[in-house]
Amino acid sequence: MIYQCQYHCPKCNKSLSKDTKVQLLFRKSDQKELKEILLEPEPGNYDFYTNPPTNFNKGERVDFHCTNCKKDLTSKKDKNFVELKMMVNDFIFFEALFSCIYGDKRTYIITENDIDVYGEANYDDIPFPDVSQIEEPSI
Ligand SMILES: [Zn+2]
Repeated sequence: MIYQCQYHCPKCNKSLSKDTKVQLLFRKSDQKELKEILLEPEPGNYDFYTNPPTNFNKGERVDFHCTNCKKDLTSKKDKNFVELKMMVNDFIFFEALFSCIYGDKRTYIITENDIDVYGEANYDDIPFPDVSQIEEPSI
């Protein structure tokens, strides 16, 4: 299922959409400055465009930040994922998480009562606890 949704910053709530893309700032681990990156809004589509053009190494972790409030968008659920707010309408939003490890093409959309997987993500391998279920911790 592909959602035709708008992405917003979970910190300041500002829309991150630019034309048909999602605009964020990124920083490689060996850089100080934040630079611009445009992502595809379609979950699981990892095509992107950076300004200036940037090469990434497979397995490299990239920080993503909001273009408005400049806050780090790393998910509290898993530090290897970036979390955006996916607005369905004015009242309902989902959490969109995508891997910020270059080459790791996993995207998860956490809806009200389910988790949808995209890209190379797998239902058997969801890296953060299912928010809809409270389970006994396994020992
Ligand atoms: Zn923000």
